[in-house]
Amino acid sequence: MLLDARQGDLLEFSAEGDGAAAVLDAIGRLALDNFGDQDEDTSPAADQAVPSSPLTDAGGGMLAGISASNGLAVGRLYSLNEARPTIPRAQIGSGGDAEGEIARLAAAVEGAAQALEALIRRSSGAEAAIFQAHRLMMRDEALLGAAREGIAGARLSAEAAWWDAIEATAERCRQSDNAYLQARESDVIDVGRRVLHLLIPNAPALTDLPAGCILAASDLTPSEVAQIDPQQVAGIILRYGGATAHAAIIARGLGIPMLVGVGALNDLGEGQVIVLDGDAGCLYPDPTPQQIDAARRTMQERRDHAARLREASRQPAITPDGRRIEVAANIGAPSDAARAFALGAEGVGVFRTELLLMNRQAPPDEEEQVHAYTAAAQAMPGHPIIVRTFDIGGDKPIPYIDIPREENPFLGYRGARVWLDQPALWGPQLRAICRASADHNIGVMFPMIGTLEELDHARELLLRVQGQLAAEAIPFNAAMPVGVMVEVPSAVTMIASLIERVDFVSLGTNDLTQYLLAADRGNARVSHLAAHTQPALLRAIRQVVEAAQAHSKWVGVCGEMAGDPHLTPVLLGLGVDELSMNAPAIPEVKAVIRRTDYAQAQALAARLLTLASAEQVEAALAQIPPVSG
Ligand code: PEP
Ligand code: MG
Repeated sequence: MLLDARQGDLLEFSAEGDGAAAVLDAIGRLALDNFGDQDEDTSPAADQAVPSSPLTDAGGGMLAGISASNGLAVGRLYSLNEARPTIPRAQIGSGGDAEGEIARLAAAVEGAAQALEALIRRSSGAEAAIFQAHRLMMRDEALLGAAREGIAGARLSAEAAWWDAIEATAERCRQSDNAYLQARESDVIDVGRRVLHLLIPNAPALTDLPAGCILAASDLTPSEVAQIDPQQVAGIILRYGGATAHAAIIARGLGIPMLVGVGALNDLGEGQVIVLDGDAGCLYPDPTPQQIDAARRTMQERRDHAARLREASRQPAITPDGRRIEVAANIGAPSDAARAFALGAEGVGVFRTELLLMNRQAPPDEEEQVHAYTAAAQAMPGHPIIVRTFDIGGDKPIPYIDIPREENPFLGYRGARVWLDQPALWGPQLRAICRASADHNIGVMFPMIGTLEELDHARELLLRVQGQLAAEAIPFNAAMPVGVMVEVPSAVTMIASLIERVDFVSLGTNDLTQYLLAADRGNARVSHLAAHTQPALLRAIRQVVEAAQAHSKWVGVCGEMAGDPHLTPVLLGLGVDELSMNAPAIPEVKAVIRRTDYAQAQALAARLLTLASAEQVEAALAQIPPVSG
């Protein structure tokens, strides 16, 4: 592409050195294979049936996606590639270090290429081919050489020189009279953004978007979604991604409707008004005025319904036959706590503290963390706040924390494995949690525990830190509740032993589902496997509840299924004590609990536990009367 080679051009390849013949042979085979181009749309949702939606299709067409955050949205399409960052034209000065800037650029390109490699491993077919092309483009000498020239010649900073090179390449595509090359402009910008993010992690790429837009992108990282202002963005559509990936979790927390796995994204016109139905998992690319009216009416009805539910949401959730369920919120920042409290949260079931590490250059120190945990607790006076230790890795890379490149990041150096290993992570965090526990109802919870040794190691570190604080006469709560997340299948099998060592357990069903079914939670192609209606998951939950009850310990669920009102009767019936979810889901889940008899829910769960497939579970659930209303 960077050679401006076009369809029908004659290209001559030459190679020298060891393996030259094999290379030329491989190129020949690639040419015969049409360079891997496929004409059909092989995007994840392309082969799925178009779901039913309250807005009937009246001619403008409907595109299927996968629902990642509920809600309806009407807005103008704004493609992320239009959100060109403004890069300060920083010069490196006469005494400046051009070599240092060139090394910084090389490191950022390498980091971005590694992130793309992870995406390539998680995708296949046309999808993987796009990422492969992006990786090649990123390392292309034509691009890198121009950027290095900007640093050495024009003495620009790495980010300014890189972005100049990207803009110049994008401009060449734009000016081309070849439609294929014109369409590559967005790929060039995509590649540019990836590297830029690593050069300036705080670049506010996703602010200043047009008010009320529907943001479209090939994919977004959790830290990018976290930058989005819900007042600006009405909805999000992604070509890739999964419903329980962290980008989706953050969108749900922000209350922004989102679809993932939307294959034909590139066919949508910039600035076009579209209707996104996050409940039905589809969008209307060319809605009729009637559909837009119907969507706006439905949105108003839902707002009215939500307002009615909110009136009762501060009351406890007790079933008609007297079983009380604690309903708590999942938060990622102290500021989330006040909003969750207003929506009826009775505590925080998981504070995803690793989100505090994003969009900055270094972890918060002990003081900043004490402040964060204390602020969350003060927003919910007296209520329990469960602080989960940093769960880094998997789909939550933190650029400044050293995680080596791995074949399988979700099966690799992630969560407790990183945290237990790095005193710079556990030291300040445990001290901060303990200090905040002195005056507040704070508990600590360890994620990604797969063995007794890991849990014992974490408890031992906690005791060590508590010993140091005592020696320094710094107050803390020596009886602070300690919990473990059950999200690795081995923790389910070992639950009887794990439970003896803790005060509570919380089921991380996002990870537990992906690991039980060996189905990546961020891969739209296998989302049917990573379903919360899988009997394997329901039986695992029951096994954990039985072990906890035998030891009189409480069990919570803090994965995304806890906030799905259709599954509330199931979790209630399986015997969990606490449900922790993204705050906007709280009023509805509480309302469902208040109208579900515990005895009936138990009978339902007992029936579901005998079923053999997710399909059968879904069919059984479809027969119970609607839970909302
Ligand atoms: C889970 O895995 O269900 C969970 C709550 O943790 P996270 O989604 O942050 O991995
Ligand atoms: Mg998890």
